[in-house]
Amino acid sequence: MGFQRRIRESKSLLTESIRIVFDESQEGIGPYIDIQHTDILEPPIHIQIKRIFTICRKPMKTVTGNKTVSTFSELKDSVEGDVLYDEMSRALYSSGACLYRIMPSCIVRPKNRTDVVNTVLYAVRKGVSITARGGGTSRTGNELGEGIILDLSRYMNKILEFNRNEKWVRVQPGLILSSLNEFLKPHDLFFPIDPSTEQYCTLGGMISNNSSGPHAVKYGTTRDYALSLKVVLSNGEVISTGPVPLEEKGREPDETETLERTAYKVLPEILKRYHGHMKKERPFTTKDSSGYHLWRLKDKGFMDLTTLFVGSEGSLGIVTEAKLKLMSIPAKALSGLVYLDDLDMVGEATQKILELSPSMVEILERHILDLAREQKEEIRPYLPEGVEALLYIEFQGDDEEKLIRNFMEVEKRIIRDGKLAIDLKVAKDAKDMDMFSKVRSMSGPILNNIKGPIRPVAFIEDAAVHPSRLPQYIKGLRKLFAKYRVDAGIYGHAGDGNLHNMVFMDLKRQDQVDKMVSLADEVYDLVLNLNGTISGEHGDGKTRTHYLKKQYPQLYPAFVEIKNLFDPANIFNPGVIVGGEENMLDQHLKHGVDYHIVPTGSLFDRKLFRTEIETCSGCGKCRSYCPIAENVQEEWAMGRGKIILLREILSGHLDSKALETPGFKKVMDSCINCMRCLKECPSGVDIPWLSVIGRANFIKRHGEPLGNRLLANKRLLCKTGNALAPLANLANTLAPARLLLEKTAGLDRRRYLPLFKKSTLKKAIKERVHPDKGKKVVMFLSCYSDFSETEGGGLGTLDVLGRNNISVLISDLRCCAITRINSGAIGPVMKDIRYNVETMASYVEQGLDIVFSEPSCALAVKMEYPKILDTEVAHKVAESCYDIHQYLMILYRKGELDLELGELELTVGYHNPCHLRALGVDHDIVELLELIPGLHVRQYSDRCCGLGGTFGIKKDNFDLSMEIGKSLFREIKDSEVDEIATGCGACALQIFQGTLRRPIHPVSLLAMAYKKRNRG
Ligand SMILES: Cc1cc2nc3c(=O)[nH]c(=O)nc-3n(C[C@H](O)[C@H](O)[C@H](O)COP(=O)(O)OP(=O)(O)OC[C@H]3O[C@@H](n4cnc5c(N)ncnc54)[C@H](O)[C@@H]3O)c2cc1C
Repeated sequence: MGFQRRIRESKSLLTESIRIVFDESQEGIGPYIDIQHTDILEPPIHIQIKRIFTICRKPMKTVTGNKTVSTFSELKDSVEGDVLYDEMSRALYSSGACLYRIMPSCIVRPKNRTDVVNTVLYAVRKGVSITARGGGTSRTGNELGEGIILDLSRYMNKILEFNRNEKWVRVQPGLILSSLNEFLKPHDLFFPIDPSTEQYCTLGGMISNNSSGPHAVKYGTTRDYALSLKVVLSNGEVISTGPVPLEEKGREPDETETLERTAYKVLPEILKRYHGHMKKERPFTTKDSSGYHLWRLKDKGFMDLTTLFVGSEGSLGIVTEAKLKLMSIPAKALSGLVYLDDLDMVGEATQKILELSPSMVEILERHILDLAREQKEEIRPYLPEGVEALLYIEFQGDDEEKLIRNFMEVEKRIIRDGKLAIDLKVAKDAKDMDMFSKVRSMSGPILNNIKGPIRPVAFIEDAAVHPSRLPQYIKGLRKLFAKYRVDAGIYGHAGDGNLHNMVFMDLKRQDQVDKMVSLADEVYDLVLNLNGTISGEHGDGKTRTHYLKKQYPQLYPAFVEIKNLFDPANIFNPGVIVGGEENMLDQHLKHGVDYHIVPTGSLFDRKLFRTEIETCSGCGKCRSYCPIAENVQEEWAMGRGKIILLREILSGHLDSKALETPGFKKVMDSCINCMRCLKECPSGVDIPWLSVIGRANFIKRHGEPLGNRLLANKRLLCKTGNALAPLANLANTLAPARLLLEKTAGLDRRRYLPLFKKSTLKKAIKERVHPDKGKKVVMFLSCYSDFSETEGGGLGTLDVLGRNNISVLISDLRCCAITRINSGAIGPVMKDIRYNVETMASYVEQGLDIVFSEPSCALAVKMEYPKILDTEVAHKVAESCYDIHQYLMILYRKGELDLELGELELTVGYHNPCHLRALGVDHDIVELLELIPGLHVRQYSDRCCGLGGTFGIKKDNFDLSMEIGKSLFREIKDSEVDEIATGCGACALQIFQGTLRRPIHPVSLLAMAYKKRNRG
């Protein structure tokens, strides 16, 4: 045992990386060493290992994984929440929104404060570091650590108390900001700090980084709204912060000598000693998130530790509760765009606008405008040529006329009198406001959308100068970017002189890594020469801690003293704010020089997937839009989690055998192919496709499970149901039959199933007379409309097209196979896919279009077939395929749609299916329906219904599927509408399950309106 101790003592950093386990139960094996992190082993440790080898002279075994982590199992006994130390969990927490990859030893997800205290005491006892984590959206690497990751977002995410009259709320740190604001909205209150990550960052992370957003010019930063905190200190003591009269603290009896009491004694003394340096080295900026904030610690005889813990990046203690000040939601807002053709004028223009007390002044510099003009057609009209910078301005208030007068004043001061800008556009209506806001927030997606090895890198992304110094700052930046020959996008908060610079680099090349460090050195010199700060809102973390000494040459020792006071064992986020002797900016890069791809013998070895994986920036936005991640607040459920796991495997950090494990399959199965990633992910990473490939790999290795073969074979199921109807429908209602289905195919017995028709749509069509008119289209028959819902989408499409003198050709196309594709069983349906493409290609050659009444079939042909086959013909076919509503709207826009529609006095609630959304068909359908006289449409919020093909019908997923659909069901139930419409059979099924209302297909409403006209 002495050796074990010796190794532990030799380097605390490695205590959890190297473990010697004396496992008496495994006869003949003797002691063995866990060298799973050999990459970070340093020579002294190697020597020690050698000595152990020699001394023990017993067989040794190298092991990986949790077998050897006996120490953390001890922690399980004192924590009610989760303690995870298996390889996959650790891998999932090895990265975030930053540039880095650092493998933690263990993840603790506390359920309460006692769990946090026990984890802290354990960490001190064992010499393991603790890094608190919320949403993992930090840019700087302060959310990663080698020791324990304390994920507060999983359970400690509740609102504890709310006082409407006094306008405050008490919350746990893991609460997501937008969840808080959703709760406050009915009370006309909000938490006014708005980082762009507001839908997926936590209040704990915001407090620890002193976050802020574009509205900081009006509302300030998180520090201004933290009234008090509950913090667990390094000795396990829990303190409540807030203004405390210094004299009072001094009178407390000595026997209650606590860390808190020591702090109240020592801190005033530190402040006194460093008073001069605080004055001299305070950044001349309107926001600052660098170092420890000492300037508001003591005020008028009061000491408030809140202001110190805010912005301390988890390096002084763990915040377990916060009391936050709230504001009233402003009644009105008006926005405008100011165009400048001379960068020199930006600073003065911003200053003049600031004099009018705006709520936002944001800047986009020429490079981004140029890219936007190329990439985003819809906003092109707002981006004239020859503009050097664009300022987005917003005013808030109760009086609409005053808002307009503000803009008249802007026009006078900076255009007419000042000649600082060339044009001003003020929003005329809500649509303009929406478009202006799109212009303002386009930078991130535009920069991230560029695929390939050269990626936008965030390392000098957050410095700030006083707004009056913006021109010098921007000019200096441009000069440096030219000197280093790099492309960069500049945007951000002009009102606070806080710019987000994203530099395009390939950090897999050593010369680029070196360039990054040299560029950072020079940019920070530039910023500090302008009396700015290296971080305006994101914090220091691993990216910037090294530069703090440059920013605070005399004050930095005070930071060290404060760190030593609160965390003498250096367990809280070591190396963040204090440390940084070595520049960590270029260490542990997730896509750095050491990043290599190893062959896995799997489908993932294709370059295409590698590029996809490397495109993910890890920002974590998927937590906010992925229907699964939103409900299962876990890293593995997020798109980011899937990417991290794949990266770990493809780069050889995790054994490629992991691809074949049920754990990995579970992660891949947690995607329901709603395709939201393709629209919402700022980098457009195709998570659904990667998940399909993950499942395909699994099937390749283990074969396709019987349940999958039964459930995902839609056409077979429908054909059988159809042949046996009405017996099949009766069986559907009988408990024993449902139980049998649950046992054999895994279909949840509570699930309502579609009713099968005796006849098919194909037969019904043949029985109809439809003259061979001039124009012809091919109709792709979905299994749903062929065998079950024949009247709705199927006959409706036929009727509507017929009414428009378009005859419909029904061809013998096979099932689109979308459910089979999504389940990963692509091999068995390859023949059908090829057949469908070849058949459709022959129609396309004849100049025929193909229309679909079922969105999932359209999605299969338009989006999945081209990826599977990757042939020119598959792409060509895809271009000639249309969703029926899309097709009709094209006719309407060309003036070719018959508008002789009868009146339907109906209010219709419309749910847009995810697959139509993915195909870019959304508001089109509302517009189309509103052509019907008397018909009013209420479109429900853009939420997934939760069924996800076969996902929600499976026993294992039924509850989650219903939970996902809950908010849509509630909205439908609350809406007083005559009919509910949706174009997707699966959505209709789920809506019926959740509301007992049976939706109709939108096209059948049009068919009804035509019929009514005929009758009328
Ligand atoms: C695309 C993008 C845009 C961004 N835009 C903005 C922006 O507009 N404004 C802005 O301010 N930031 C922005 N950020 C940075 C980041 O989103 C914010 O700093 C956010 O507040 C971090 O919250 P989080 O929950 O993700 O914290 P994490 O990343 O999980 O953690 C951040 C820090 O807080 C510490 N921490 C977390 N919880 C606790 C706790 N309970 N106790 C003690 N320490 C804790 C962590 O140890 C870490 O040091 C952006 C990031 C990205 C990727």
